[in-house]
Amino acid sequence: MTTSDEDVLRAVERYLSGRGRDVRLVVPTTARLTRRTLLDFRIVRRTVVRGRPVPRSIPGKRLSEISKRPSYTDLATHPVEVPSGFAEATPVTLVLEGSVAETPCRDRDCDGGKVDCTECGASGRVDCPKTVKCRGCGGGVDACWSCAGTEKKGTRKPPANARSNQARTDWCRLCGEHDVACPKCLGKRTKPCGVCKGKGFRTCDTCDGDKRLKHGPCGGSGFVTTFTEVEIRFPVERDKVRVRDLPHLWWPTSPSRASWREKRLTDVTDKLPADLPDTLRARVEPKLALINGEATREATLRYLPVARVTVVDDLEWVYFAFPDRQGPDALKVVRRPSKQVVLRVSGIAAASVVIAVLVTVLVVSAIG
Ligand SMILES: [Zn+2]
Ligand SMILES: [Zn+2]
Ligand SMILES: [Zn+2]
Ligand SMILES: [Zn+2]
Ligand SMILES: [Zn+2]
Repeated sequence: MTTSDEDVLRAVERYLSGRGRDVRLVVPTTARLTRRTLLDFRIVRRTVVRGRPVPRSIPGKRLSEISKRPSYTDLATHPVEVPSGFAEATPVTLVLEGSVAETPCRDRDCDGGKVDCTECGASGRVDCPKTVKCRGCGGGVDACWSCAGTEKKGTRKPPANARSNQARTDWCRLCGEHDVACPKCLGKRTKPCGVCKGKGFRTCDTCDGDKRLKHGPCGGSGFVTTFTEVEIRFPVERDKVRVRDLPHLWWPTSPSRASWREKRLTDVTDKLPADLPDTLRARVEPKLALINGEATREATLRYLPVARVTVVDDLEWVYFAFPDRQGPDALKVVRRPSKQVVLRVSGIAAASVVIAVLVTVLVVSAIG
């Protein structure tokens, strides 16, 4: 029920008389009254989305296991239990009845579940360098202070402090000079490879020397289990329409202070309240239409009628009246400075800034 113009004007009269002003507003041409309605509409829906059937193939003979899973025959009519509430829900997975089959692995390279190791060309071993750089001398000219690893004695002059600083106690196996060789490689720059012990090949890491590998798609069993599967999801969609007032009225018209009317709509046939203005009705109605796959919904419509009153011989203020939380018929009245006043005050504020700047400039130039 909408409060009558007279109720609104009387509420403003009471508000003014509370401030020592006795005016009669319920007289034609003394006041102007306009109305608007604030709105906070929210809707949440759960839909059922039946996905496309997809072919699946899993390793091994698993017919009996897959056949135990929940199944369907006609997806469109298959009954599904829609999760209650509107929290995130886990999808349901169904297997097409009669689609499960065990078949031998058809991959060309697969031989009873095994495939040749490509890393070693099915030989079980891979090449490996026979020697590696010496870590002690870095594998360079420092291997021998005399021949630098070239077998020619005296090719290189040792650094002045070389013999004292570094322990070069061994003789060079290349040039034969004493106390000049790197103790790790004895002048040869390289050492035998620790992995293959200098043999030049090692066991293949990929197949561990077996030459063959388990075939992944059949899991080494030589068989795959195929079936058709479908996923049913339950996505939740949310939507809203809001009509708020100007920021200067947010606080007094907030749902904790003003008495918003509320209507819950859980069915598509539920009607909007009769007193909802047409402009709002036109914005909310399209949001109420049934959407594809919709299963459940919950919509909440909250609205607050606000009357705006201006008094003809009091243009400084604008009065707003709306249902109060105090009682079923109580009207709360608040007033706000009118637009002219706001503009004038901000004009004064702007002028004060200009004056302040001028004063500062004068003071600064006087001091300077
Ligand atoms: Zn296979
Ligand atoms: Zn040498
Ligand atoms: Zn060395
Ligand atoms: Zn090696
Ligand atoms: Zn291999």
